[in-house]
Amino acid sequence: MSEIKGVVNHSGQGVGVVTEMPMWKEARVVVIGAGISGILAGLQAKERGCHVRILEKGGDLGGVWHHNRYPGVACDTTAHTYVYSFAPEAEFTRRVAPGADVKKYYKSVAKRFDLERLVSYNKEVVSCVWDGAAWNLKTADGESLVAEIVIAATGRLHHPVFPDIPGLSNFQGNCVHTSQWDETLDLSGKRVGIIGTGSTAAQVNSVLSRIVKKLTVFQRTPQWVMSMPNWDIPADQLDKLKADPAEPRRYFDQLLRDIERDAQAQLLGDEAYVRKVKESIYKGLDSVSDSELRRKLTPNYEIGCKRMVISDDFYDVMQRPNVELEIEKIASIESNGVRLIDGRFHELDALIIATGFKTDAIMRPMKLRGVDGISIDDVWEEDLVCYRSVAIPSMPNFFMINGPFSAGGRVSYTTWIEIQSLLVNRMVEKVLKDRVALMPTLAASIASVEHIRARVNGTVLVKGGCQSWALDAKGRALVDYPDPKVLEDEMRTASFADFEEFPLKPLLAKQTTESTSIS
Ligand code: NAP
Repeated sequence: MSEIKGVVNHSGQGVGVVTEMPMWKEARVVVIGAGISGILAGLQAKERGCHVRILEKGGDLGGVWHHNRYPGVACDTTAHTYVYSFAPEAEFTRRVAPGADVKKYYKSVAKRFDLERLVSYNKEVVSCVWDGAAWNLKTADGESLVAEIVIAATGRLHHPVFPDIPGLSNFQGNCVHTSQWDETLDLSGKRVGIIGTGSTAAQVNSVLSRIVKKLTVFQRTPQWVMSMPNWDIPADQLDKLKADPAEPRRYFDQLLRDIERDAQAQLLGDEAYVRKVKESIYKGLDSVSDSELRRKLTPNYEIGCKRMVISDDFYDVMQRPNVELEIEKIASIESNGVRLIDGRFHELDALIIATGFKTDAIMRPMKLRGVDGISIDDVWEEDLVCYRSVAIPSMPNFFMINGPFSAGGRVSYTTWIEIQSLLVNRMVEKVLKDRVALMPTLAASIASVEHIRARVNGTVLVKGGCQSWALDAKGRALVDYPDPKVLEDEMRTASFADFEEFPLKPLLAKQTTESTSIS
């Protein structure tokens, strides 16, 4: 159980920057991305008094909660813990919030802290090059910027994966990836196929199965599906949350303790926890009356190896008369449907691609070049080498939130990124105080990755007998960090002895006429 005390400013006034010190006011900070971690990084840099600019490739802030608008999109974790600890929320009335409400919360935080004026939308950063004293950034629409510090908060769930199935582009009906949903698409009364059975597909299927003529679910691997009702927050609890400004934070802490306890038990395969969860899951599976369907839906790997699907109607949906589960391998996609390896054919009007995201594309296709022109593709050619998730060798004053080995998909995402920001803040603070460029040594970075992997290797993520996007093609962990307590400790104890540093030239000399000032 983690005590996240001290991660943020508990007064509720600030956004986690706790040190008072003389500021290098001219320092320019570019944050790439205005998702949940970009908003946090932007708020913290702004609170320090730096010149901040947040560049967002999308048309609004919110990251995944802006981009994902598929039917049924919701945040399946407890809404009250999917918020910043410095901005707890009393307004959520149910355990799970719809995606639009989650986005609304982040918009409201940006407004409350006067952040949105610092965000530029439709600004995809295409290159970021270190010139010896600062980063030179270029955006797809031709803007040039200079910044002494860059914080990449680019997320990992936004490069859609399309399955490598022959003929996909030949399909003549509607074909859409869930993250690129066309809100004008009306699938009522249609024959719809969906490829993929992850958390996204479960949410989509719940809605579509009520309106389509027929839904064919193409499953490659069965999922462990945890039933968790989306209960109303009891009226007395809601009153309490609204009456006392300290109560939302207390509620957050209380929920967090349970979530983190369960997450640890799941990752470490705690026997009592697994038994309890299995009992609950099997109640759902046992509700499937057709034994053949039940067999097809039963996974053969450990609980928690893939992130569990959370749904309160999954098994009902799969038993609706207009829903069909197909487990045969897909051979090809033809203009009007899906052909299976055994020759059978499913004729379809629409095909939904729910096959997730390319999680190792972190920051790319952006061109990133650090000292001596070395590119991120070179640094990461063999492996995602980085220091405690947040810094990369050869990339001075370039920090990440939500980089490699930073995810805790089973815990409070916001707590997780606040913990990472502890080290980002420590490094930013040092850069501002000493006017230096700071980058981790290669040796310390390699050691850091080995250290994290040794921990992840002991968890169900690696030992659980499945393939998931938490692992790379060689089966090595690349996404998760196993424990918030350890992560917090790593962020707090990282030593500057693990970094190379060199002085920066006086500022403002760098400001060129063609580049934009950050204010
Ligand atoms: P996902 O978890 O990566 O699932 C992708 C699905 O597509 C899997 O069933 C996978 O099967 C299947 N698939 C991939 N390539 C395939 C191929 N070539 N042929 C057939 N099937 C293929 O993707 P997601 O459901 O979009 O979720 C992405 C992330 O967002 C996950 O971390 C998820 O937990 C998160 N999410 C969270 C929420 C929330 O409420 N908090 C909601 C939605 C999503 P295999 O299992 O065989 O690989």
